[in-house]
Amino acid sequence: MGKKSSFSGRDRKRGTQASSVECDEIQLYLGTSHPPVAAVFPASYRVAAASLGFSMVVRNLGEFCSVHRFFLQNGQFISPDTRRSLRDYSMIYLSVAFEPDLMAISEALVCSGLVGLTRQRGHMDPIVIGGGVGVSLASKLAAAVLDISIAGEGDALLINGETVMMLLAREGARILLSTGGFNRSAGIERIADALMSEAVDSSVALTHPIGDVGGICLNVRGKSDLSKPVGSAFVSPDSEFSSIYLLEITRGCPGGCRFCFACHGYAPFRAAPLNSILAEINNLPERGVKGVGLVGAASCRHPQLGRIVESIAARDLRWTISSLSAEMVPDLDPLVLKSQKSVSIALESGSPEIRGFINKRGSVNSCLDALPFIASAGIRELRIYVMLGIPGETAADICMTADVIREIGETFRQLAGGGKTLVSVNPFIPKPGTPMWDQPMAGRKTIKNGVAVLRDRVGSSAVLKTESLETAFLQAFIGRLDDPFPLLGGEIGRREIEESVTR
Ligand code: SF4
Repeated sequence: MGKKSSFSGRDRKRGTQASSVECDEIQLYLGTSHPPVAAVFPASYRVAAASLGFSMVVRNLGEFCSVHRFFLQNGQFISPDTRRSLRDYSMIYLSVAFEPDLMAISEALVCSGLVGLTRQRGHMDPIVIGGGVGVSLASKLAAAVLDISIAGEGDALLINGETVMMLLAREGARILLSTGGFNRSAGIERIADALMSEAVDSSVALTHPIGDVGGICLNVRGKSDLSKPVGSAFVSPDSEFSSIYLLEITRGCPGGCRFCFACHGYAPFRAAPLNSILAEINNLPERGVKGVGLVGAASCRHPQLGRIVESIAARDLRWTISSLSAEMVPDLDPLVLKSQKSVSIALESGSPEIRGFINKRGSVNSCLDALPFIASAGIRELRIYVMLGIPGETAADICMTADVIREIGETFRQLAGGGKTLVSVNPFIPKPGTPMWDQPMAGRKTIKNGVAVLRDRVGSSAVLKTESLETAFLQAFIGRLDDPFPLLGGEIGRREIEESVTR
């Protein structure tokens, strides 16, 4: 701690986008005497610094290895921590947040001088290990690109008190230190065997053996108890959340929406123990941190949120709560809302029938009832999330959604003295592991017509933002993929992808 950051002007000229004023904590993981491994994130430094999944990988690897971070820059993986290239590492650990990242990873490995597919790697190639939500949602694609893919929670505890990720790091270090030299296939088997034998109550299952698609997929069924909450491994002014230390305080969601992977993939809902959270806050680096972002799909449901916020305020830092839901606002301690800039409404639909079908709890009226509380707390931005193309949705349902948005937007503007309402419109995407995973998506025309109706009826009461339909179709396609190679080989076009996932 207290050492100067390792980033040099030369590194920045190479375009790594890394900050020269990161907080000092990253020094814990860099340049130690442990064997060096690469921690790779398939996006820019700016995005990686805001990823708690990547932070979890860096922190756990740091227990046994000297960690060099690599980020995606112009299609290649480049590091701000070292002049070495990715080719120089025998152990590569990837954090995969989104399913399509796996395709980008395969391409970027090739552009970085490595082999993109596990079945084509030879004995001199590194062992490529990856985990994250993207792996959990795309096991076949992951097994084609990664030698070992970990579906489920990487910080779940094993029998010896280590996390899954720590075991991967420990075994990786042992492979690198082996007196017999590096042996790729023996190393892959060694890691899989260690995970299987040290899992409690068979909480790790082998789902795709070598020789099927290529790599091994280990399915972790155990759950983290969040006794060591995941916090940022590095904090930077160049992050998406500038100089904010992110801390996961809850995992999963008790909401029960039938389409939602955050709920079904991470069940049961868990809240990190208060003493562990306070320990993290008390140990925040002295320099570089300007605030704390409390993260979780249902972070505002942490039962001791007031105490957590008090301890952050006592350190003279600001805080933000991700997914602060409007319906919760009337019941929250006013201190919790003090530095909050926006509040969310996960409306999905304004139609009672569609809301019932997806098991959306709470009522539209409870959102409207919360608006005066939100406005009087000084919050001036409302974010509404809406989904189009839910099976069974009719034109009348979409009109109802538009009318609810307009009513919320107009009421909030009045109550909050010009308060803004932003609406994020997404197509319904069936996700593996949810009760609606086998439902079809709506076609392009249906979604576009729905967006047009929303725009027309919502008018100037709110600002609508839509996401790429191509990416949405691709996500659904990847989730159902049986043979990943035609997609990885570029043999499947956009039209084919769309037709196979729509009704
Ligand atoms: S409330 Fe949000 S996070 Fe919770 S289950 Fe529903 S969609 Fe998922």
